[in-house]
Amino acid sequence: MSLQGVNLYMDPGPGALVRCLASKPKLDPTKLDGILLSHKHLDHSGDINVMIEAMTEGGYASKGIVFAPQDALEDDPVILRYVRSYVDKIEILREKTSYPLGNLRFSTVQKHQHSVETYGFNFQLGRTTLSYLTDTKFYPELIDQYPGEILIMNVVLMTEIPGRKIDHLSLTDVRYILEKTKAKVVVLTHFGMRMLQAKPWEIAERLSAETGKKVIAARDGMTLDIDEIMKEQGAEISQVNLSSLGERGRETGGNK
Ligand SMILES: [Zn+2]
Repeated sequence: MSLQGVNLYMDPGPGALVRCLASKPKLDPTKLDGILLSHKHLDHSGDINVMIEAMTEGGYASKGIVFAPQDALEDDPVILRYVRSYVDKIEILREKTSYPLGNLRFSTVQKHQHSVETYGFNFQLGRTTLSYLTDTKFYPELIDQYPGEILIMNVVLMTEIPGRKIDHLSLTDVRYILEKTKAKVVVLTHFGMRMLQAKPWEIAERLSAETGKKVIAARDGMTLDIDEIMKEQGAEISQVNLSSLGERGRETGGNK
């Protein structure tokens, strides 16, 4: 994501570096200012060590801040100890806390209901807020915690699977959130297999018609240009590259 002139890679899942280099235009990892991890599940963190190496040129050019929940660093850590000294700082995420990164400021929400320590984020972009609702089981208090005019939401499940405990949002949850949220633009991403088979762009079109909100289904490599929305709010131009948001989840993966 490039927000307020700050380059931040969020949730570098498997293939993050390959995607950066394959992207058009190419995304240069050495230009990153930081890496933000919402939680340690491998589909979000698989390439975090690779990205730290790439950002810092193998530790040769020490830079950047890595933001991560404590359990990604301590218990069964996904961030290897040897790469930690490559970055300027490792910032441990706590719930309901605000963090600066250059000109950018973002805050965490309450800890999500997910099987590992998980936080979603609100990015302050001038007078506009961009909310990123990462993996979680649905609970009603979620909605008020994401006040952004733009809301990015991870949606894995088409429907709940009875008798199976899966800590992800389903389409039923999304419909409910769309009814309640004040967001004007909602981007759905991180789809499970059944969502992908059901053609997310068609689902998004139906949801737009039903709710009157602009609902967009993310695709690999899609760039969300929030320029227009930002201009309405009198703020700077920013871009969100959705390759960095981990589009692909897995319905079969249980609690990932
Ligand atoms: Zn997860």
